[in-house]
Formats: sequence, C-alpha cells, structure tokens
Amino acid sequence: MRKKIVAGNWKMNNDLAETQELLSHLKMQLVKEPQAEVMVAPAFTNLYSAFQGLKDTPVQVVAQNMHQAENGAYTGEVSAKMLKSIGVDTVILGHSERRAHFGETNDILAEKVNAALKNEMRIIFCFGEELADRKSDKHFDLVAKQLLESLYQITDSDWKNVVLAYEPVWAIGTGETASPEQAQEMHAFIRKNISEKFNDEIAQNVSILYGGSVKPANAKEIFAKEDVDGGLIGGASLKAVDFVEIINAF
Ligand code: PEP
Repeated sequence: MRKKIVAGNWKMNNDLAETQELLSHLKMQLVKEPQAEVMVAPAFTNLYSAFQGLKDTPVQVVAQNMHQAENGAYTGEVSAKMLKSIGVDTVILGHSERRAHFGETNDILAEKVNAALKNEMRIIFCFGEELADRKSDKHFDLVAKQLLESLYQITDSDWKNVVLAYEPVWAIGTGETASPEQAQEMHAFIRKNISEKFNDEIAQNVSILYGGSVKPANAKEIFAKEDVDGGLIGGASLKAVDFVEIINAF
C-alpha cells in the first residue's frame, strides 16, 4: 500500500513567534491518528522550534531545501549533515520557486538528489510544467525530462526514500488548480514512466503528491483519484484550520 502524505510548505513565511502560534493551533486541531502522514516544512530558522512544538504528535518536520555539497565555502547554505544533526531527515527538492528564483537546473537538482540520498535522507522531489508547456502540449515531455535528468540516476533501492510531488507551475499560488482529471492523467503518466525506466513494483509503491492551490474545497476530490497519494500544500497550510481540513480529506 502506498503511503498517503499531506505536507505543508510554509515557504519564507512566519517568524519564530508566528511559527509557534501556528504549531500550537495545529497541535490542538489535529486528530490523534490522521489517515495520512503529515509533514510541515518551516523556514530553516524555525526547524528546531517546530520539533519542540510538535513533540508528541505524528507530524514530521522537514526542510524546504539543502545544498548539494557536504560542507565548505557556500555562504548562506545548509547541508544534509546539518539538517540531520537537528533531526531533520526529509527535504523538499526542486520546488518551482527554487528553480525559478535560485537557478536550480535539472543538473543541480540531480546533485542535490544524490547528496540527500547518500546522507540517508528522504526526499520530496518536486517537478511540473509551466503554462506554456501545457498550452503547447509539451507537458508530458517536460515532466519526463525533469525526472530523467534529475532523478533517474538513482538506484532501485533508493526509491524507498523518494516521494514525488507533481506541481504544475501554473497552479502554484495562483488559485488555479489542475482538475482532478488533469492531476490523475499526469500521475498515471508518471507511474507508467517509472515502470518503464525501473519496474512496476517501484512505480506502484512510490507516493505521488499533487501540489497547486489545494484547499479544503477541492482536496477531497483530488485525493480521491487513484494515482494521487496526497498533497504538497502551500498557502492553505499556513492556516491550521484549513490545513487540518485538507489532512482530514482522506
Ligand atoms: C507549493 O508551493 O508547493 C504549493 C503547492 O503552493 P500553493 O498550495 O499555495 O499553490
């Protein structure tokens, strides 16, 4: 059975006090045994306090990014080893905002994927097409290329530490959501692609999350699709009541 996962990406939002407030609301409102694995990704400065705030809950604390080098002269960056040293063992890689604003190419992401897996971290690997790709009917090719160039160098045994997040760029933070059918169509394509390049067991076992303006009003319908195993949630994860409603959509 594939794992169901709902992960909140808090991006560069909330200082320490605001994060602590959100954490305490989340802790209060979360049901005891959610039907999905729940994760939150606060800013680096709030990771440690998130651990404290979420003690005795099933919520996992994950990082939004990491550098591909083990250590060295990379001012402003954070390594896998540093994350692991405070207990963070999952990292989001390849978010479209990292690609668009910080020059993360498929090649750089392949290095990040390798570094994270080598350090025995779990990755949530994000990818997805821009609106122009979809309009010109290149979205399947584009997604296949992102997977091929950044992820398919991994070994069969690495897949146990991989979660995928299909996030069409045109749906992120725009209020516009892929329809449940569009999400299902792409998720089924991704699974088939993995099955062809690796094998069917891997393809059937990897969790593929959808991300892009998921909110309480549409979560149930999207999560009900056969190949959608959960969501990566941006805006709606910043309000505990909405995030919890999305988690409870399973
Ligand atoms: C995201 O940033 O990963 C995301 C899906 O954002 P939003 O839910 O706000 O579209």
